[in-house]
Amino acid sequence: MKKLLPTSTAGSLPKPSWLAQPETLWSPWKLHDQELIDGKLDALRLSLHEQEQAGIDIVGDGEQSRQHFVTTFIEHLDGVDFTKRETVRIRDRYDASVPTVIGAVSRQKPVFVDDAKFLRQQTKQPIKWALPGPMTMIDTLYDAHYKSREKLAWEFAKILNQEAKELEAAGVDIIQFDEPAFNVFFDEVNDWGIAALERATEGLKCETAVHICYGYGIKANTEWKKTLGAEWRQYEEIFPKLQKSTIDIISLECHNSRVPMELLELVRGKKIMAGVIDVATNTIETPEEVANTLRKALKFVDADKLCPCTNCGMAPLSRQVARDKLNALSAGAEIVRRELLGK
Ligand code: ZN
Repeated sequence: MKKLLPTSTAGSLPKPSWLAQPETLWSPWKLHDQELIDGKLDALRLSLHEQEQAGIDIVGDGEQSRQHFVTTFIEHLDGVDFTKRETVRIRDRYDASVPTVIGAVSRQKPVFVDDAKFLRQQTKQPIKWALPGPMTMIDTLYDAHYKSREKLAWEFAKILNQEAKELEAAGVDIIQFDEPAFNVFFDEVNDWGIAALERATEGLKCETAVHICYGYGIKANTEWKKTLGAEWRQYEEIFPKLQKSTIDIISLECHNSRVPMELLELVRGKKIMAGVIDVATNTIETPEEVANTLRKALKFVDADKLCPCTNCGMAPLSRQVARDKLNALSAGAEIVRRELLGK
């Protein structure tokens, strides 16, 4: 029988200090050449072990082989010049120096497929693999070639689909696309963003997920959140169309964010990875707090479709905080599981 309320994470987990500077985004690698290749795999093994120790049901690689959830994938593609940089506004929120699209984008070889095969060999648990979504990818680049956000997103969607099919063949059970940009560009999401996402998942038999969050606990994001008012209703703009999409699972923020829980009603029928762990604070949730958030979500999500999860990735946190939060996630889910089963 399938486990009720299977727990998972949004994706990234802290890296060991011998691999990269802790509690830092874009942290440079501390190892080089073959040592780096071996070190990333060792870190993946460690990250998996920590997830399993915490009782996480759907496990991942903790994104141990990536410096950043978007950039690392793009670095492996042709058509993007990382030495040619322009300043652009990311997610309408902060300026950043980004690489330039100088020609047709393409993927010459798999990016994460070997890592996924390695993870598959290490565990019998279901595994989830995160990729950046097409709209979030275009939002971190300067496009001097296609000169069209939609066109570039479509090209990335085709590339993501190639990678996703190989990840599926490597034994990945759930492929997740990270689309924080969906929370910002509502018109584009409805015009072509969801269509591009569906193109990225075309022909897949494994489950597919989209992760839409309010970002890591970095300053630009916390400042932005202060401007969003008492209720965060961004999801309301895109959920009706997502509900009709072919995507199986929606991963979103539920704990400590101001998202009204009733918005989940708009995606009734989809599986929900509900964020019940706040990644923007070092305060560890109590199991009862986690259970409370899950009980609220259960008013709008059928029990067999609810997966307790983290609000977003935990890469910027300390390893101890991340471990404690994973334990709280498991313990809180177990409380509600017992309630549902009448134990
Ligand atoms: Zn996120």
